[in-house]
Amino acid sequence: LRRNQGELEFHQAVYEVLESLSPVVTKRPEFVEASIIERICEPERQIIFRVPWTDDNNHVHINRGFRVEFNSALGPYKGGLRFHPSVYLGIVKFLGFEQIFKNALTGMPIGGGKGGSDFDPKGRSDAEIMRFCQSFMTELYRHLGEYTDVPAGDIGVGGREIGYLFGQYKRITNRYESGVLTGKGLSWGGSQARTEATGYGTVFFAREMLAAKGDSFDGKRVVVSGSGNVATYAVEKVHQLGGTVIAVSDSSGYVVDEQGIDLALLRQVKEVDRGRVGDYAAARGAHVNLVSGGSIWDVPCDVALPCATQNELDEVGAKGLIGNGVKLVAEGANMPCTPTAVAAFQSAGVLFAPGKAANAGGVATSALEMQQNASRDRWSFEHTEERLDAIMSGIHELVLTTADEYDVPGDYVTGANIAGFTQVADAMLAMGVI
Ligand code: NDP
Repeated sequence: LRRNQGELEFHQAVYEVLESLSPVVTKRPEFVEASIIERICEPERQIIFRVPWTDDNNHVHINRGFRVEFNSALGPYKGGLRFHPSVYLGIVKFLGFEQIFKNALTGMPIGGGKGGSDFDPKGRSDAEIMRFCQSFMTELYRHLGEYTDVPAGDIGVGGREIGYLFGQYKRITNRYESGVLTGKGLSWGGSQARTEATGYGTVFFAREMLAAKGDSFDGKRVVVSGSGNVATYAVEKVHQLGGTVIAVSDSSGYVVDEQGIDLALLRQVKEVDRGRVGDYAAARGAHVNLVSGGSIWDVPCDVALPCATQNELDEVGAKGLIGNGVKLVAEGANMPCTPTAVAAFQSAGVLFAPGKAANAGGVATSALEMQQNASRDRWSFEHTEERLDAIMSGIHELVLTTADEYDVPGDYVTGANIAGFTQVADAMLAMGVI
């Protein structure tokens, strides 16, 4: 605690994993002898740097940049960059820590890392975003590489930002190193289905959870929080599988659309116009209810997919959902449910999937992008989506089997933590004290 003072989200993420691990350390005392837990909680490297940039009025701004290279036992550090004013070391470390186990669950050869900046992209012009990204990469590039550290997007970092970051990396290094970033555009090394992957993957995982109970998305009322990358494509896949998403949100409020969220309109408002959910409501018609402030978890539903940000669903929200008969909650975002919310779902018998399992489809498809880059190949959308679907089904099976093996059947939290941890711990053990 003294070593990581004030890093609340990091403490929360570590606590949640360690809480699950006592049966493993009892069964595998060699992990304790080799101090695997102490080592896994300490990042291999943490980089903090100044990011100076100039706005359109020639004012100089100073932001702080971060990259936490957490664990490379399974492969190069892999994890997104987040640009949001709330970013500080505790957020980056929680995300990097989660990423270690998530990446292990995918079965792909990738380690865990995360980065970002307290830069706020909201309201900034394209030229300002570009100058910021160029300045950020001018420092970060020296730490990256196809075999070292491979960032991607996260909150506030989408295709536009990855383009500016890749352009600056290419310019500084004089290398067309496609595999150094993922989430690239399709014409310059990106993968089909990467944009859709996290949202689709979360819904594939939820579909497997329902199927294990003999159920499906057919006819289900679904609430999805957020309206960014993950949320948008979760909405699309739910509709393709026969469910109806009736509410989405952003930080200004939420909309309830009983006819089902109009995906084309949502994408126009969010991806093209960079507008708010209020703009969706205004364009869609009088039947849409816009609630500014308030909690989207008050909306009755069968399935809830929190896809916005950490700690967005607390115990009050959980009790509201349970009271309204929710059957399943799967985390599309990273750590969106507070520990007390998770406990409430579990004790009420609601099927609950943690983000490190349910949202692993994004990073898994990033690894598929790296695979295509390394082999100078391009796969079709259908082939890539099939691979994603198979990976998510595989994670679901691994997590459930592990939960059975450790006598906690149906406990997706414990199953995911143990399955991810043992893979990384075995690799660390094999490599000695490094
Ligand atoms: P985006 O920036 O595309 O979207 C984030 C969305 O969440 C926006 O609609 C944003 O609204 C909303 N949001 C943020 N804070 C709040 C809040 N306090 N209350 C309500 N809504 C809020 O990010 P992503 O979709 O990429 O990421 C969402 C989550 O998914 C994050 O937790 C991320 O770490 C996780 N994730 C993302 C992956 C990816 O591939 N992109 C992979 C795995 C996990 P507003 O615009 O108003 O801020």
